[in-house]
Amino acid sequence: MASQPDRLADRHRLAQVAIRAATVRSLLALWDALIDPTDLDATTPVWLDAAMAVVLRRHDESARLAATHIGRTRYAQVGDVGPTPPLVIPDSEATAKALLIRGPLLLKSQMTRLPLDAATRSAKAAQAQAGARRALTGGRQTITNAVRADPAATGWRRTTSANPCDWCASKAGQVWATDADGGDFFQAHDHCGCGAEPLYQ
Ligand SMILES: [Zn+2]
Repeated sequence: MASQPDRLADRHRLAQVAIRAATVRSLLALWDALIDPTDLDATTPVWLDAAMAVVLRRHDESARLAATHIGRTRYAQVGDVGPTPPLVIPDSEATAKALLIRGPLLLKSQMTRLPLDAATRSAKAAQAQAGARRALTGGRQTITNAVRADPAATGWRRTTSANPCDWCASKAGQVWATDADGGDFFQAHDHCGCGAEPLYQ
């Protein structure tokens, strides 16, 4: 039977994956409802506002979930929930930029060489994945920031989803010490379901 920290880690990983899936679903639906591929200039601003609201809400949800997870894991391993992890502020500018680049701007560039339907499908999927990545930054950063600020933490470990890509599989279980160069930096890509797991003494 898995130990308690393992079960906590699994439950947290699955909850973050569920946030990812919900973000993708919402962003796909918003794209269909609000983007007119034949009138991108007029429809992009309203879509961007709505998509940003979804991503920022999910970012907050991901961050809060990670903060609760840190307290539970710390309690299981150190016997104390420790300080409340600092709230991670989302980077709105980078989020808007990612949604625009992987959505309407990608569509514009692909329209020149693909049929409109195919170009639209590809941009619709790409913006949803880019938004989901930004949403999960909430949880990932909450964990990497919190372990850095907590003297009882030794670092964090990379967890992967059930079906990771080759790059993520090669990084599975990798441990970052809190004092390592770049130890606060979580490398993720758009389709990435990987997470960070706090480690204690
Ligand atoms: Zn990954």
